Amino acid sequence: MAEQTYSLDTIMRALENREFIVYYQPQYNAITNGLKSAEALARWRLSDGSIVMPGSFIPVLESGPEIMELDWYILREVCRFLHMQEEKQIHRVPVAVNFSRLHFDDGDFLPKLLETVDGFGVPHRLVEVEITESALSENGDEIISQVKEIRAAGFSVAIDDFGSGLSSLSFVKDMDVDVLKIDKSLLNQNCEDEKERIVLESIFMFAHRLKLKTIAEGVETREQLGFLRTCDCKLIQGFLFSKPLPEDEFLKICAEGESAGQAEDILTVQAPSAATQLLLDAVFTRYPLVIFSNLTRNSFYMMAYENFTARTCPSTGVFDELIEHGTATMHPDDQDAFRQTFDRQNLLKAYENGEKWVSLTTKQIGNDGVYRRVETTDYFVKNPSADDVLVISLCHNLE
Ligand code: C2E
Ligand code: MG
Ligand code: MG
Repeated sequence: MAEQTYSLDTIMRALENREFIVYYQPQYNAITNGLKSAEALARWRLSDGSIVMPGSFIPVLESGPEIMELDWYILREVCRFLHMQEEKQIHRVPVAVNFSRLHFDDGDFLPKLLETVDGFGVPHRLVEVEITESALSENGDEIISQVKEIRAAGFSVAIDDFGSGLSSLSFVKDMDVDVLKIDKSLLNQNCEDEKERIVLESIFMFAHRLKLKTIAEGVETREQLGFLRTCDCKLIQGFLFSKPLPEDEFLKICAEGESAGQAEDILTVQAPSAATQLLLDAVFTRYPLVIFSNLTRNSFYMMAYENFTARTCPSTGVFDELIEHGTATMHPDDQDAFRQTFDRQNLLKAYENGEKWVSLTTKQIGNDGVYRRVETTDYFVKNPSADDVLVISLCHNLE
């Protein structure tokens, strides 16, 4: 059924008369089911008490600058709510507010945001700026710098409706946001279609590698939830958990706090892909430098190196050059041993002789100019679909 639309004049009069109210849709931790945050959604309450949905007024407002007036109105209502919670000492969670792309056409968005939020004395971490995917791709470079400033001021920024439009993955890479909200259009029925699952799994993998928090929108079924958990999706927003709620009902949920969620055992709900990520986290904790190398093809790829003390090497390239580079960073006493042990031909011989791993402790100079003992262990692994000989190098400082 087509939604009824109203004229711009009628809507603006309603806004002046404060007929718009905020509904809050809770966002829950996908594993523990605990309340984590919420999204503010505009509703228009008519004099007979009936509620008009955004589809009947947002598109009309979006045809001109009037949408910005609604967005600022909603932000003020949200700040008033957060301030009231503080006065009543009720548990607060961050609230995301939708902002139309028009806000980012000129540079005065952040000053206005600060004026409103600071005017209510609300901590910046409690306000999330939600910007729709299409706005980001249309406004290009200009929005990238604005997003940086908004985040530098302590607000979190989310890309809304990701996957609904045509924005490229490389654009998300450049955006430097906190949260990626996966659009509900990607969650068809019960996530049974294999191709759809592959697309979703890839999006979550990509988002997590970029260290983005993920929220799935429009989650309606247990099956969808089950699948999203296997993708290690962090937060869930959808009718399965809760519809958008009027302020008083949301307030009750906040008062119950995070403990209201019934925690589920992570080991029973997370499937292998998520378990693998957990395992990797544990490995990276112990070994801050992990390198995958293909000895047959003379290539390498570093998986984790941000926390390692020596970081001057490129993160991917030719294996022989990696060893040359590594040798140069070793203490002069250790250079020959390092070069010999990790020489590609010598490693291939060791593999052919049935060795499972090769290990060496050397002194290596860090970016700070200090030599530290480092243990490097190369584990041989077999590529199941090719004859290539691969090694995984796990490195850690001993002091
Ligand atoms: P959105 O920002 O993507 O918000 C999520 C929409 O998905 C909401 O629709 C929410 O009610 C709906 N939703 C959440 N879970 C489920 C579910 O499990 N199943 C289904 N079928 N739907 C679910 P709503 O409230 O009708 O809002 C529609 C859109 O209107 C929003 O999409 C947003 O783009 C826009 N909007 C709402 N409030 C504002 C506002 O204050 N400012 C601006 N600029 N846009 C707003
Ligand atoms: Mg939104
Ligand atoms: Mg959305």
